[in-house]
Amino acid sequence: IKDLIGYDEEVGNSILKEYNRQCRNIELIASENVVSPAVMAAMGTVLTNKYAEGYPGKRYYGGCKCVDKTENIAIERVCKLFGAKYANVQPHSGAQANMAVYQALCEVGDTVMGMSLDNGGHLTHGSPVNQSGLLYNMVSYGVDDETHMIDYDAVRELAKKTKPKMIIAGASAYPREIRFDIFKDIAKEVGAYLFVDMAHIAGLVAGGCHMNPVEYADVVTTTTHKTLRGPRGGVILTNDDELIKKFNKAIFPGTQGGPLMHIIASKAVCFGEALKPEFKEYAKQVVKNASVLADELIKQGIDLVSGGTDNHLMLADLTKVGVTGRELQHRLDEVYITVNKNTIPNDPQSPFVTSGVRIGTPAVTSRGFKESEMKEIAEYIYLAATDFDNKGDYIREGVEALTKRFPLY
Ligand code: PLP
Repeated sequence: IKDLIGYDEEVGNSILKEYNRQCRNIELIASENVVSPAVMAAMGTVLTNKYAEGYPGKRYYGGCKCVDKTENIAIERVCKLFGAKYANVQPHSGAQANMAVYQALCEVGDTVMGMSLDNGGHLTHGSPVNQSGLLYNMVSYGVDDETHMIDYDAVRELAKKTKPKMIIAGASAYPREIRFDIFKDIAKEVGAYLFVDMAHIAGLVAGGCHMNPVEYADVVTTTTHKTLRGPRGGVILTNDDELIKKFNKAIFPGTQGGPLMHIIASKAVCFGEALKPEFKEYAKQVVKNASVLADELIKQGIDLVSGGTDNHLMLADLTKVGVTGRELQHRLDEVYITVNKNTIPNDPQSPFVTSGVRIGTPAVTSRGFKESEMKEIAEYIYLAATDFDNKGDYIREGVEALTKRFPLY
């Protein structure tokens, strides 16, 4: 950053400010993480100079021998990591990967089933403001009103009634394990493709802490920057000899141009890290930390959607506490704790206000936080929600001490 400031002060300083913010803050956004210096280094390399439209061995540009090798390493490693036969590592993002799957498996206007946004699904699973909702006949399922868990019988009934071409399993704000085996049975029963978007839980799957969807689905997509702790980007995985050809076509030339080779190199480094035994320990700790944080929040008197968590995230239901998600997010920002407001099932508030916040442990676990730090954080969140005017300074001081004890890098 110092070099960049010397060259372009304005941009360099804006990056330095963000670096300082990340050092100072406790990051609890469930979709964020802290990459290793090696993952970061690969992104800032000469590979950004290279055009490589096409795939290894079949490019539309000369001079691709070296980047072919890089892309093949990424493919081999991610296939090994998730036990998949084929991978496309070129999607620029999770959304790009998902749209390519739609394009490959469906015609415009086809019926597709996905989890609704306000029950935990992602925008690309059928939101009316997203291409998925604009181009396809989306049918949404949600969680049970009482348990806040996916009601697989209701999903089966809806699938039988609507006969979708494709069923999407996966979520952005669902704190419980997703039963891909049951989804497979449902998809088989109605003759639909099963598409699993494991963006949020990929690191847990890699670390053996969640059922692996690659064993059940026709296609699995993921982002690489969440629990997997890689650069921002996407991946498509499949075991199907024919479908991989369709996904490759749908990424290039279907929806993208030249691949980001520097990001693919960084993905390869990330997959290499995730294949190491230490990553299993990391994934286990992410889940342990989430479980302790959830228990402590409940003890403090904060309700959680579904009563707890099985994975890396939880959704605090703030209705009983009497503060909105927007207000708690703002208060926590003031004391250097970062979360995002989130709707809860059947939220009486608008998506801009919300009655909940989503809290995740991947980034703080990367930083070295363990169970005792989780207990501290639970206390701070509770105090920010219930007695912010009196306890703001106390929380800020506690957060400063914690982040000093666990440097970002
Ligand atoms: N799928 C899920 C389940 C997600 O949670 C997200 C991002 O939050 C995406 C896809 C989209 O990923 P990206 O932001 O890289 O497009």
